[in-house]
Amino acid sequence: MKITMEEAAKNLMEADRLAITAHVNPDGDAVGSALGLAVLLRAKGKQATVYIDDKMPQNLAFLPGFNEIQRPDVEIPKPDLMVVLDADLERVGETLKLAPGVPVLNIDHHVTNKQTADFYYIENRAATSEMIYDIAVHLGTDFPLDMALPLYTGLAADTGFFRFSNTRPSTFRAAARLLEAGVKPNVVSENIETKPLSVFEGQAAALRTLEMSSGNRVAGLYLDQELTARLESSEGFIDMIRVIEGVEVAVLIRCLEPARCRVSLRSKGLDVSKIVTRFGGGGHVRAAGCTLEMTLAEARRTIQTAIDELLPPL
Ligand code: AMP
Ligand code: MN
Ligand code: MN
Repeated sequence: MKITMEEAAKNLMEADRLAITAHVNPDGDAVGSALGLAVLLRAKGKQATVYIDDKMPQNLAFLPGFNEIQRPDVEIPKPDLMVVLDADLERVGETLKLAPGVPVLNIDHHVTNKQTADFYYIENRAATSEMIYDIAVHLGTDFPLDMALPLYTGLAADTGFFRFSNTRPSTFRAAARLLEAGVKPNVVSENIETKPLSVFEGQAAALRTLEMSSGNRVAGLYLDQELTARLESSEGFIDMIRVIEGVEVAVLIRCLEPARCRVSLRSKGLDVSKIVTRFGGGGHVRAAGCTLEMTLAEARRTIQTAIDELLPPL
C-alpha cells in the first residue's frame, strides 16, 4: 500500500522492535539512511538493529554505528516491523528471511521501485536520507551527531556533494540543519573520497580501458575480471569519464565472473533507467545500474545497442 511520509512516521512509531535494512553493494545513502533512522528510533525509545547482506565499504567506517551493522546470518527475536531503505525488496539479499511474516515498510527514492512492500513511501527525492530527515523533523527531534553525520553523508553521497540534478532546495535545507548539528563537511568528503593506493592505481588501469563510441557521445570503461578482482572499490570511476566534452552517456562495466557483469550508467538527461529495467536493474533517470549474466564482450555489446536505440541519430 502506498503511504505518505506522515503515515510512514506513524508506522515506525507504532512498532517497538524494528529491523532496518538497505541494498546490497551498499553506498553512502543506504548506510547513512539506515544508521540515521536507527538513531532516531532509539531516541524514541525503540529497539532498532541494522542488517545489510553484503561486505561493507570501509570508506564509511567513520560513521557512528558502522560497526554495529550485522549480516543477516543470525537468529533474531521477531521484530514488529522490517524497514527496507534505498531500494526495493528485491535488492536486499537474504535480509527479509530474517523475519518471515513481519510487515515490511519500504522508504525509497528510486523511480524504478517495484512497490511490492506492505507499505511503501516512495518519492522522487535526492536521497533516502533526505526522506529520513523529513520523518525526523516531522516526529520532532534534535539531531545528535550520530544521527546527523550518517544523514548528511547520505545526502552528500547521492548528490555528488550537492552537484547533481537531484539536489534541491530541500536538500540544502536539510544539509544546513545537519551542519548546525555539528557535521563537518570536510570530514565527510575526506572519509568518503580517501582511497587505498591500490584503488588509485586501479583507477589508472581502469582509465586505460576508456573507449569512446556512438560519435563520441558514449564513454565507457570496461574492466575485465582480473582488474575488477584487484579493485576493492570502483567508486567514482564513472564520474571521471562522465565529464568528457560531448559525452551523453557514461558506462562502467565490471566483470565479476566469466559470465556475470555489473553495469553502471550515467547520463546528462537521457533516461538510462529505461535501459536497465529491461535487464532487471533499476535506478534513476540519470544514474542507473544492473547485473548481466553475460561475458564482458556480450555485456558491452548489449548495453551499447540499448544506448544507441535511445540516442537521437547523429
Ligand atoms: P550505481 O551505478 O551502482 O552507482 O547505481 C546507480 C543508481 O542505480 C543508484 O541509485 C543505484 O541505487 C541504482 N541501481 C543500481 N543497480 C541497481 C539494480 N540492480 N536495481 C535497482 N537499482 C539499481
Ligand atoms: Mn543507494
Ligand atoms: Mn539513494
